[in-house]
Amino acid sequence: CLMILKDNLIIIFMVISLIVGVVVGLTVRKLEGWEYYQKRKIFYLRFPGDLLMNMLKLLILPLIVSSIISSLASLNAKASGRIGLRAVVYYLTTTFAAVIEGIILVLTIKPGNRGGGITPSGQSKDQAPLEALFDLIRNCFPDNLIEASFRRLTTVTVPFKYNVTIDVPFNATGNEENATTAQETRTSDFPSVKVDDGMNILGIVVFSIFLGAVLSSMGRQGKPLLDFFETLHIATMKLTMLVIWYSPVGIIFLVATKLIEMEDPNKVFVQLAYYMLTVLVGLAAHGIIVLPLVYFVFTRKNPVTFMYGMTKALLTAWGTASSSATLPVTMECLEGNHVDVRIAKFVAPIGATVNMDGTALYEAVAAIFIAQVNGISLNIGQVITVSLTATAAAIGAAGIPSAGLVTMTIVLTAVGLPTEDISIILAIDWFLDRFRTAINVLGDAIGAGIVDHLSQADLKEMDRLEGIEEGIQ
Ligand code: ASP
Repeated sequence: CLMILKDNLIIIFMVISLIVGVVVGLTVRKLEGWEYYQKRKIFYLRFPGDLLMNMLKLLILPLIVSSIISSLASLNAKASGRIGLRAVVYYLTTTFAAVIEGIILVLTIKPGNRGGGITPSGQSKDQAPLEALFDLIRNCFPDNLIEASFRRLTTVTVPFKYNVTIDVPFNATGNEENATTAQETRTSDFPSVKVDDGMNILGIVVFSIFLGAVLSSMGRQGKPLLDFFETLHIATMKLTMLVIWYSPVGIIFLVATKLIEMEDPNKVFVQLAYYMLTVLVGLAAHGIIVLPLVYFVFTRKNPVTFMYGMTKALLTAWGTASSSATLPVTMECLEGNHVDVRIAKFVAPIGATVNMDGTALYEAVAAIFIAQVNGISLNIGQVITVSLTATAAAIGAAGIPSAGLVTMTIVLTAVGLPTEDISIILAIDWFLDRFRTAINVLGDAIGAGIVDHLSQADLKEMDRLEGIEEGIQ
């Protein structure tokens, strides 16, 4: 009873903090001269929010490594293979379904064709190079584990060709002596630019899966290390509880400062308003209808109860715009939802890294919206390319704020759309990011719930075998 009260109390605090954050943010915007609210003041005001982000991010590494390794240790090879397969099938089908929903909506609502005033760059690009796909695979196998925990490799194909103005020696005779300089514009042709965008979680997940599998196959020899990771997992979850109690404070300041920084809504064009509507309707349809329906069909359990159990994680996702930072809270909620801890530890970290339904839906909508703004109508082949690349781009996106915006370049270049036009949707991305992150987290949670239900026979069989083993000993 006390536990239920405690749980609901945190949810109430979180909801209050969201409301307070919005009220504070909007109030400051009403103050005279708020436009000149200095960056420094915003920096101070964000501080409690930054602390929350840091604390959550700090837990990601120990949590992912300890969860995956200790869960694999408690599952036998056959069971973990089957559970992994169920999770992968769920991730791919729901992500692809989200993309299709997005495509249907954007082709029906046609936000980019509404009267507006957005000026597109009007340039189209070469076909996408394979680099982005190679990077995705390369990120799975980092060459240095320590380095992988603070940077990942991403090929951003944005500045394919750009003009640079340089000073060149110039005189009439071509003799460089006594030459004055003149400016000349040359076109640089860099195929891509590498940027670092945070931790390579994908690489760490893959490494943990292999290490966990090897350790669990080593019998008694692997036990000391497995016990270490089991204890690390329990301790990290206890730390998570502390951070959850702090999160309402952090959320107030994260939300308030974001609203203060936000561009003046008067500048939002009609097309953008329709674009936002399309994305939000798509996310709502996926989160309120599709995912709960899939949950019900597979488990015959009440999806509303399950979703209510995830409230803390969904609010944290909205507040932080990061599914990786939300992972500790997601794990905590899954335990509260009675998902078997072996399943939650295995499936949730992988889901937070690769399963992003909200991001996939948004990438498809955004790409087709940019085509519409440019007056380009995509043929069926191109729409299929958008659906496939949006799925890949969502898998490749890191669970950090606005990561989807970076991987959007994969989708745009695949169908020859101008990547510069990402700037059209930049100003409002922070807002949509919060909703798609919440749907990403919901997708992970429902996936864990379904895989748990479908894996009951495997878990029981394992318990039976363990019982026999203990009996022998
Ligand atoms: N912020 C999202 C997440 O963490 C990723 C995205 O930008 O779509 O799940």
